Order: sequence, then structure tokens, then C-alpha cells
Amino acid sequence: MTEGTALCPECDADVEIPADVMENELVSCPECGAELEVMGLNPIELELAPEIEEDWGE
Ligand SMILES: [Zn+2]
Repeated sequence: MTEGTALCPECDADVEIPADVMENELVSCPECGAELEVMGLNPIELELAPEIEEDWGE
């Protein structure tokens, strides 16, 4: 199982990783709110995900 926590690359907080997490899945850090991409599962590696701008209101 891959359940556990990983360190947020942004703020070094423990980020809870769901047991059924998949590679390339996005999780968000509870501390700083950063979107993190799961780069590897064994061990769990997190990387900052590129920010996706969903606000097109211009
Ligand atoms: Zn963080």
C-alpha cells in the first residue's frame, strides 16, 4: 500500500496521501493550499503542479 504522508515541496508540511493515489494525481497541501502532483509512489514524491488558470473572466 502507498498510504501515508509526503512532504510538501512548498512549505514542508505533511500532506496526507490517500491509499489509492495514482501517479500523476493531484493532491493539495492543507497548509499552503498548493496543488501537488504525485511524481512517484515508492517512495511518494510530490512536486508543485503547474497552476491552472480556470478564471477566464476578463
Ligand atoms: Zn504546503
